Amino acid sequence: MQEIYLDNNATTHVLPAAVAAARQAMELGFGNPSSTHATGLQAKAMMEATRQRARRLLGVGEGRLMFNSGATEGIQTAVLSALCALRERRDAGESIGSLLLYGATEHKAVPESLAHWNRLLGLGLTLRKLPVDSDGRHDLQVLAALIDDTAMLCTMAANNETGVISDLSSIAQLLQERGSDACWMVDCVQALGKLKLNLAATRIDYAPFSGHKLYAPKGIGMLYVRAGAPFTPLIMGGGQEGGQRSGTENMAGIAALGAVLAALEDGHTFCSHTEMAAMRARLVASLQHALPGVVFNMPLALSLPTTLNFSVPGLSSKELLDLFDAASVRVSSGSACSAAKALPSYVLEAMQVPQWRASSAIRLSFGPLTDAATIAAACVRIERCGEALRNSGLLAPAAAAAPENATVSSLLRDGVTELSFDGQRSWLLCDAASASCAIIDPVPALVPRLAAFVQGHAYRVRAIVHTGAVSDFRAAHLALLQTLDLQQLENFDADGRLALGAQSLRRVECGAASVYLLDQRFAFLGAVAPQVLAPGLLAPGTVLCTAHDDGSVCNTVRAAAGSVVPGVARQLAPAELPAFLLAHPDALVVDVREAYEHAACTASVFDGCQVASVPLSRLANTVDAWLQQPQRPLVFFCRSGNRSARAAACLQRLGHANAWQLQGGMALAQLSLQAQPLAA
Ligand code: PLP
Repeated sequence: MQEIYLDNNATTHVLPAAVAAARQAMELGFGNPSSTHATGLQAKAMMEATRQRARRLLGVGEGRLMFNSGATEGIQTAVLSALCALRERRDAGESIGSLLLYGATEHKAVPESLAHWNRLLGLGLTLRKLPVDSDGRHDLQVLAALIDDTAMLCTMAANNETGVISDLSSIAQLLQERGSDACWMVDCVQALGKLKLNLAATRIDYAPFSGHKLYAPKGIGMLYVRAGAPFTPLIMGGGQEGGQRSGTENMAGIAALGAVLAALEDGHTFCSHTEMAAMRARLVASLQHALPGVVFNMPLALSLPTTLNFSVPGLSSKELLDLFDAASVRVSSGSACSAAKALPSYVLEAMQVPQWRASSAIRLSFGPLTDAATIAAACVRIERCGEALRNSGLLAPAAAAAPENATVSSLLRDGVTELSFDGQRSWLLCDAASASCAIIDPVPALVPRLAAFVQGHAYRVRAIVHTGAVSDFRAAHLALLQTLDLQQLENFDADGRLALGAQSLRRVECGAASVYLLDQRFAFLGAVAPQVLAPGLLAPGTVLCTAHDDGSVCNTVRAAAGSVVPGVARQLAPAELPAFLLAHPDALVVDVREAYEHAACTASVFDGCQVASVPLSRLANTVDAWLQQPQRPLVFFCRSGNRSARAAACLQRLGHANAWQLQGGMALAQLSLQAQPLAA
């Protein structure tokens, strides 16, 4: 399935003309622009032509425009320049103000650079965040209150996570009205190619740009410095860039950037604002249809026409990201540099977006090169994602479809499902034949998910039980009864048994705790050790399900007693998979991603071999059968390799001799198996 890349605010692919220009610069025009021979002069001519083009496009007037490595360096240079000048002015007895004021939604490079240079230069100024309103725009009242004491002001033209466009003219007006001499930096990274810029006509002192946000390669950027604004070089050396930025220039990068700027100037290559707005409207409609309840975390009218930031009730950013990734739609959960850390976005927090929305947020961003066909294809996949969620019971069925008509995956209708939050586990027991279920140890944070699951499947809840202290459980129990509109449930008979279809759930008191057994197949122990239970209650193969999530998935009585020989952890590189499957025709390839991820991914690099879908959250159902055939190779895979590693480690610990994990998950398999398909 071809990837649809909708994470252009993180980075873009490189424009083919830019690739060609870079190649030409490396192969033919490889001269050093500082050399005085013909080869050098040719290289210099290309560089200066690019600079002239940039000067025209950005309207830099008499200002400086230097090439550098990207916006982080540009921000650094601007901050250093401003702070050096401020120090000089203060040393000369001038009053400079005490604040380094920056927008609360700025890229991290801004506050980090301010703090760094403030410390290194011994300025001792105070860093202060300029708050934004719920639309993500700077609070001009606070700015008005602080501006007289502000030495440097840093704002951005458009935000990378939300696309919110700053009201720069109101800021400029305020600076002018108050006669402020604060140095003003405007991060223009996300504006290039999407907003009209005429820098010299503004009060802006510094404007950094980054090539890789607009189809040039990484490692090339530009910095605009207003004529007359203070300047101090960040890098000293051979005096390149007129002594403003030493170091031999990145000529391939400059050539590529030149091709992008030429495309911007020709007016035919990139989409117009109207075309981009129409594509975004199409995506909005598709998201609203596929994911009912979707909320946009930015005002559409005040944002870049290429960015959407949205949340879906009941789903975390991680789940949505995994789902979109499975459908080969690349989006992000916030900015790329913070996406690796599972923290709620500081940008959305600054906008005081409710907690649930901040932790469910997804950024979808395309660029001026994206075409309508790509957006149409993305809409089809978004629809498929919505369907996969509905089929898994994670989204309420569409209003028109009665729950019983919904094609809930039969796999999900039956058996044991683990839901985990912050180290705590809840267990859901489903019986498809009787359309009923029991909930064990509900965790308060998981109540909406459990409720959606039950409602999505249209199951009757027969019991909500707990293994530990009642106080921990009461809030979740009540919330579930309320959400599901249920009366008190008391379905256990005098022997402590509850029929769940043909199965029987049995309560066994164990001191202050209770343990629940499902026909000797599963024991829900909470925090109770299996050894303290009366002999005969459990079988050696009983699967033990605890309330504490230590990452181990599940255990068996046999393994807990130390009477199995653990297998060896095995890793399979994606390139080794075709040969492995040829050598082991009985191998079972298992997708341990959630069922909705599996469903969203209709075609994959694993075409040509049979793939079983057993989500990690449902692994407990299958371990017993797999342990009956301890030599049959099991090859687990997931998106990135984390979940499959846990599945393989679990099976190995329980005594399976041949459990493998596909290294790097789908992400790396895609690269490797495209070259060497399994079907071949
Ligand atoms: N500023 C903004 C708004 C950005 O989006 C980024 C990139 O993520 C940067 C600065 C840093 O740019 P670069 O990657 O060129 O250092």
